[in-house]
Amino acid sequence: MKVLKFGGTSVANPENIRKVKAIVQNLGNQKSAVVVSAFGGVTDLLLNTSKLASEQNQDYKKTLQEIENRHIGAIKELIPVQNQSAVLSKVKSDLNVLETLLEGSFLIGELTPKLSDKIVSYGELLSAYIISEFFKSEGLDAIFKDSRELIITDDNYGKANVDFKKTNTHCNTFFKSNQHDVVLLPGFVASSDSGDSTTLGRGGSDYTAAIIAAAENVDILEIWTDVSGMYTANPKLVKQAKCVSNISYEEAMELSHFGAKVLYPPTIQPVLGKEIPIAIKNTFDPENPGTLIAKNNNGNGKTVRGISHVDDICLLSLEGPGMIGIPGISKRFFETLSLKNISVVLITQASSEHSICVGISDDDAQKAEKAVNEAFEYEMATKKIKPVIVEKDLTIVALVGDNMKSHQGLSGKMFSTLGKNNVNIRAIAQGASERNISAVIRKEDVKKALNSLHETFFEENIKQLNLFVMGVGNVGSKFLEQIRQQKKYLKDELKLNVRVIGISNSRNMVFNENGVALNDWNTLLSQGEKADKQAFFDRVKLLNFRNSVFVDNTANEEVSKSYPDYLRNSISVVTCNKIACSSDYAYYKELKQLAKKYNAPFLFETNVGAGLPIIDTLKHLIASGDKVKKIQAVLSGSLNFVFNTFNDAVTFHDVVKEAQEQGYTEPDPTIDLSGIDVMRKILILARESGHELNIEDIENEAFLPKESLDTNSNEAFFESLKKYEANFQKMYKEAAGANSKLKYVAQFEEGKAKVGLQKIPKGHDFYNLEGSDNIVLFFTERYPNQPLIIKGAGAGADVTASGIFADIIRIGNY
Ligand code: ADP
Ligand code: ASP
Ligand code: MG
Repeated sequence: MKVLKFGGTSVANPENIRKVKAIVQNLGNQKSAVVVSAFGGVTDLLLNTSKLASEQNQDYKKTLQEIENRHIGAIKELIPVQNQSAVLSKVKSDLNVLETLLEGSFLIGELTPKLSDKIVSYGELLSAYIISEFFKSEGLDAIFKDSRELIITDDNYGKANVDFKKTNTHCNTFFKSNQHDVVLLPGFVASSDSGDSTTLGRGGSDYTAAIIAAAENVDILEIWTDVSGMYTANPKLVKQAKCVSNISYEEAMELSHFGAKVLYPPTIQPVLGKEIPIAIKNTFDPENPGTLIAKNNNGNGKTVRGISHVDDICLLSLEGPGMIGIPGISKRFFETLSLKNISVVLITQASSEHSICVGISDDDAQKAEKAVNEAFEYEMATKKIKPVIVEKDLTIVALVGDNMKSHQGLSGKMFSTLGKNNVNIRAIAQGASERNISAVIRKEDVKKALNSLHETFFEENIKQLNLFVMGVGNVGSKFLEQIRQQKKYLKDELKLNVRVIGISNSRNMVFNENGVALNDWNTLLSQGEKADKQAFFDRVKLLNFRNSVFVDNTANEEVSKSYPDYLRNSISVVTCNKIACSSDYAYYKELKQLAKKYNAPFLFETNVGAGLPIIDTLKHLIASGDKVKKIQAVLSGSLNFVFNTFNDAVTFHDVVKEAQEQGYTEPDPTIDLSGIDVMRKILILARESGHELNIEDIENEAFLPKESLDTNSNEAFFESLKKYEANFQKMYKEAAGANSKLKYVAQFEEGKAKVGLQKIPKGHDFYNLEGSDNIVLFFTERYPNQPLIIKGAGAGADVTASGIFADIIRIGNY
């Protein structure tokens, strides 16, 4: 014989029930016991209607009506008209009893646990009966058997304890005499010695099936549900979760105890002793092999087999100087909880014995607090022990695996993964069996925690990066386009799954938790909500995704002030905006420190030389122990263009005008021509070389007349250039006469930085610098005479975007 159990979703409606029939029919001549749950959602409806009735709320009738409609509707769809009346009359009579029970509760305004069990048992009783009649009408040799006649329990209503001796005898007697191929049994329900209905706890139909399977010592117990087996994590929360095809009893038990709802925890106990394997299968994908739970079936030495979590946990901590060295405190503490029927999910005790901390269900928090404070009243009054501390709204996440004990470093990996993602750990426990490492975290972090742990332990190959992009002008839009084009390559080759979750410009912002469609971001953004920097940050924080990166493509000062908010939440920052790194030294330092403290990279490669790997190279030099002696660089693409184009056949005015029109300069060309942009860049290089410097410390030998610099409109500026044309020509001729070219050079040496126009002689590294290229020479202890040279396109939206891209990839490899 085989025992099959079909859960609530599997029998939620006639369409699904037909699938169940097909599976049972497929067994052919093999005898089976088929245990079913109530139609999906009916148990909740029954509990709901009885609660309303006991609160004397007339609305209970509406819920009852809904329950009636579900069952009558199923009969009408499943059973041929000629057979319907007998089934309808039996079900209607049951529903009448149910109605009377609810009326009683309504009238006296009370719901005892005993009455609650009686009411809720109708869910399974009705579903099993209707399905058995449907099976018969389809020609199966089926009968209905009321499980209450087989499974005997105590009267701990709501979660009754099974009397296995009596139960096994009843099962053996019944199945011995049974002649039918298929026996349909209601799950979850049982009866007490005195014949009252009891239930086995929420999710208890699995247990019913296991009890019968063990009593009859069958070959296999099949649990048919709505997912294809036991997964590496709850597939509803972790999309990448995979089915674990083989798992040991102990692992499965541990996972289910820690929240893998797919199997009701007590289910394993009865079958474990008899070594009956459990198959978890999907009613909606019957060919899928699912999961096999069996003895020693723990996956060929694999360590972590699954990650599960228990919601709605509270931590109860008892501490105080009076606890040290006094025997019996823990005993009294646990006794107090046990006497109140409070089950302890997790325990940690500091080795100093100064405190004990346990995790219990949120529902028990009040009861536990009161009981413990009463039990230790004397010690608390004499200040030996502090009043118990209760922290609510927590979740336990647990890594589970039989072989975890023989591997070092798993807990380190677990905690560093959580830490990197700013998941604060409130308590830690590792079972003595080392089959489980648990951490207590805040409830709102659970999705992020599960996904990042899953990534670490099961998808070591693929890492997801979640980007939040602010600014989609020239650079930002190129950047989005590059991501769109490279998405597949990144995934296949670099094992990075890069998604853009949020985009904002100065007008609108748009978010999509599954990633904004990058072929249509423009339209989506224009239809998005009103932009707001604070609201953008709040949303990033609320979404609470792992590996989040804030990308600033603006040149906005306000935006650059928001970086600490991101970093403090372990959200990395990538920026081409130079303001933050070139503002006050204290702020630059603070950002660096926050990045370190919160384990969130702060990268700004594009601040100097666009996409050229200048800052990254400098970082590597310093990290490997080298020291910078001197930096010489041409860092302004705009100025380079201007001086490469300017000669005695054109006017300086026309060249600058052209540079502005072609987008080589900022809209306000004085930012480039005054040298301020270059000052910022050399300042950043000096700081990255380890020097404390501010912009005021940099010498700027301006080549523009003061009058030009002081103009306050573009028009006035260009007018003044015309006026001083003779000066510019003179500069050119002097240089040309000396066989030199004019270059705007930045220099840093012995702690001092300066910028200014220089005559560069033929043969110098800077002489042949084309177009808007940049060049940097690093003279260091390792490169004292022949500098390390980085040269290439140092301006333009495309190269800047690819520099940002490179920073994102650095984070991916972090
Ligand atoms: P049934 O009604 O068939 O008994 P349940 O809802 O009780 O089904 O259990 C199946 C559900 O368990 C799945 O839909 C899934 O959401 C949840 N679940 C939680 N953790 C896991 C896990 N590790 N593997 C598979 N399913 C899980
Ligand atoms: N119907 C019950 C519940 O929803 C038992 C079960 O489905 O396993 O809890
Ligand atoms: Mg279940």
